Amino acid sequence: MSILYAAEADEAAQWTDSLRALEPTLDIRFWPDWGDPAAVDFVIVGGRSPGDLSIFPKLRAIQSTWAGVNHLLRSAGLPHGVPIARMVDRGLTGSMTEFVVYQVLDEWRRGPELRAAQREARWLETMPRRAEDCHVGLLGLGTLGTDIAVKLAGLGFSMRGWSRSPKEAGMGVASFAGAESLPAFLKDLDILICLLPLTAETENILDAKLFAHLRDGTVLINVGRGAQLNDADLLAALSSGRLRRAVLDVFREEPLPEAHPFWNHPQITLTPHVAAITRAGTGADDILENYRRAMTGRPLLNQVDVRKGY
Ligand code: NAP
Repeated sequence: MSILYAAEADEAAQWTDSLRALEPTLDIRFWPDWGDPAAVDFVIVGGRSPGDLSIFPKLRAIQSTWAGVNHLLRSAGLPHGVPIARMVDRGLTGSMTEFVVYQVLDEWRRGPELRAAQREARWLETMPRRAEDCHVGLLGLGTLGTDIAVKLAGLGFSMRGWSRSPKEAGMGVASFAGAESLPAFLKDLDILICLLPLTAETENILDAKLFAHLRDGTVLINVGRGAQLNDADLLAALSSGRLRRAVLDVFREEPLPEAHPFWNHPQITLTPHVAAITRAGTGADDILENYRRAMTGRPLLNQVDVRKGY
């Protein structure tokens, strides 16, 4: 019975230390030194596509240390029928909420304008805007989106969320579900946040067609995936005034190439895919639980629905 760690080598130490602290008897091997392929029961993968996993004849489960599994589902050699679990980690959820709440507050309290005024020694007296006057829309009301929506609603922001299936009322967040409700969801937003998983349906969703439903001066925060954004359409929307500013944490190509126009764009705030990162200290418990579940044939925690793509 062994676990194969097939993620990036620089992540390996923190994960294996945390797993062994919980269960010292674990037999953990590292790619490509797996020994007998028939001895590998469980594979842990990270943010890059793993090698060919179809060579392990007795593989019982694949565990991602990342919340998004788009790269894994598209990788060659993914064995059919082996259950896949994605990462849901309170450390990651908390980090994402902090990042997005910070960006929303910075925007609504005019942080970028005040910093620009200070650089020019200009006394810019502004009236603080009230949170309830700010309409914030979250594309994606799953694990991460829900935590953000509830916390921003708690600060008084007027929240709405868009998902595939309708969500229960009662958490102070208006629910919009399905493609037909997208225009109504987008109407009159001040801030649009994308926290969708990357699937065939959500690829390029942030394009000119979607921006056409927004009002002028909307701010976009993309923390989902870079391939959800049409880069050229974003630049056009920023120059037309449809979008006033964009905060981007994820990019079509990462690291973002040096010559990319986003780097020096005055209306873009850019962070290098650091909004939220899984922490081994809080994520290892669920991985160990999934290993035990896989070994006893029980359903995994946070199992990916391969047909839906997330
Ligand atoms: P999740 O719990 O699976 O939630 C996904 C949400 O998106 C759900 O509400 C789902 O609707 C909705 N959705 C999916 N496809 C849709 C569609 N076609 N139309 C409408 N709604 C759709 O995922 P999560 O844990 O919140 O993570 C979301 C994504 O965040 C990840 O996949 C990853 O790409 C990204 N992420 C980014 C970072 C970063 O550092 N920037 C870190 C972690 C994760 P239902 O509720 O109806 O299923």
